[in-house]
Amino acid sequence: MLLRFKRSIVVSLVVLGLSLLMVQSAWSYGHGDTKYSGFKNVIIMIPDGCDETVQTVARWYKGEDLQVDKMDGGGVKVHMANSVIPGSAAAATAFATGHKTTVRFLGVGPRTTDLLTGFTPTAEPYAPVASVIEAAKAAGKSTGIVSTSRVTHATPAAFACHIQDRGMDNEIMEHMVYNNINVVFGGGARHLIPSGNTYTTTFGAEWGGKRTDGEDLMQVLLDRGYRFVDNKDDMAELTSGNVWGLFDDSHMQPDMDRQHFATHEPSLAEMTSKAIELLAQNDNGFCLMVEGSQVDWAGHANDPVYMTRDFIAFDDAVKAACDFADQNPGTLVLAYPDHNTGGMKIGHYYTAMGYTETTIEDLVDPLKGMTITAGGLTRMMGSDTSVANIIATISLYWNIVIDETEAQEILDYDEETGAGLSYSISHVISKNHTAIGWTTHGHNGETVPLWVYGADAPAGIIDNTELALMAADAIGVDLAATTSDLYVDAATAITGTFQLDKTDPENPVLKAGVSEIPMSKDTMKFTGWDWEIELPGLAVYAPETDTVYISEKAAWIINLFN
Ligand SMILES: [Zn+2]
Repeated sequence: MLLRFKRSIVVSLVVLGLSLLMVQSAWSYGHGDTKYSGFKNVIIMIPDGCDETVQTVARWYKGEDLQVDKMDGGGVKVHMANSVIPGSAAAATAFATGHKTTVRFLGVGPRTTDLLTGFTPTAEPYAPVASVIEAAKAAGKSTGIVSTSRVTHATPAAFACHIQDRGMDNEIMEHMVYNNINVVFGGGARHLIPSGNTYTTTFGAEWGGKRTDGEDLMQVLLDRGYRFVDNKDDMAELTSGNVWGLFDDSHMQPDMDRQHFATHEPSLAEMTSKAIELLAQNDNGFCLMVEGSQVDWAGHANDPVYMTRDFIAFDDAVKAACDFADQNPGTLVLAYPDHNTGGMKIGHYYTAMGYTETTIEDLVDPLKGMTITAGGLTRMMGSDTSVANIIATISLYWNIVIDETEAQEILDYDEETGAGLSYSISHVISKNHTAIGWTTHGHNGETVPLWVYGADAPAGIIDNTELALMAADAIGVDLAATTSDLYVDAATAITGTFQLDKTDPENPVLKAGVSEIPMSKDTMKFTGWDWEIELPGLAVYAPETDTVYISEKAAWIINLFN
């Protein structure tokens, strides 16, 4: 467990006289029969929407090697079931569960109507498949989810819910709450609170609820023994126990905008360190997923400084995880983007200097002058989008002097494309004042990097589904067996009759004899009895196939009383 890189393994081989195969089976991962094994903890870290380009820009910007630069490297294929260019929900489902799926699907198998040529699904359409977080929980490990987006956003959601539409934040939140994750840090509190209710934060803000099903999930968390915190100081004081820390009603701020708009929010590295501190108290180990959510949004916006700074914030979080791994052998850190976004490149068609004369200053200095994201800049601009105010605000916050022609170019681009003012500012300033080029406001489909700490990276380019198996194998949990335990078709598992009562369309309930199982929860009641039991997994309803999925345990109890 103390061994780390190839060289130290080789040296130890001589000393210990172990066979190469034995060591490789535990520490290497390649195609075929070699796997990771023997790890107590796994930390999965995703900078959403990027590739080596921002890694390179961030390295020059910082002036030194990043944490990810020091890790063992590999590459990952990113296509999803229906497209070469993936969406975040399907990409995350692949590395959370080991199954490729359809755009927008979370933790369920793909539809069959638009599969890529030659692609054969590995999961039934719309059927839930267990994530490595769920498998780790079933094995008695602690689990955690950290993001800078709403925690119901695609990447974190894929680890803790089973829903065919990533836009259903309320339903996703219900799955996440009832999935009994030990530590959750991020944004999105509005989806815990009933519509019409408000939560008053410790820093004086009022967060209005968005839930339309009448459920108060904040209260459910408190009833289940969770602490709830909404600011970084209260988070810092946590020393043990289960906790949800949501620091915004929706998404958290970009890393560089926190100082301007939300000083109560922790950084991604602070959330990661605290999550690790709390989760590591379980002697059985833990599985933690961390997402640098907004690298992707910066890519969508073609905002070079937002992308660079949020990637560095992600890298700081990776450093925190690797520092823990140094102190706690048996910890594997797997970091990788889900896909690239924006097509960021160093070098573009408009560079004034020859490409072989690009200095570090050409690349870095324009970004160093920018003190806020383009989105934050337009927020500072307010409703005055005049040429004069565009010139003044870009000068003030980005330290770039533009003339009236260029300000008009920004307004014209916005007019032509409908991209919005902040996207238009990023586009024109990137083109005219930086060495950074972009190809799209959407995602890209090329292979992305893999960064591994605590073991060798797998040889060659692996598929994103293999990442799920790597994580599961590492900590000795079985995704397929967990799916079989937690998500069986009620029609085959229940021996008697049952029905799905949709009297309350937002809260359907499976009824079989005296047994009642509400959908999207892990609970079970019995008609006429005033007690509730907790089940090992969620009850999931797939409306497209009109199928209910429950755990083997739930079916066993139903059949006992039916
Ligand atoms: Zn993504």
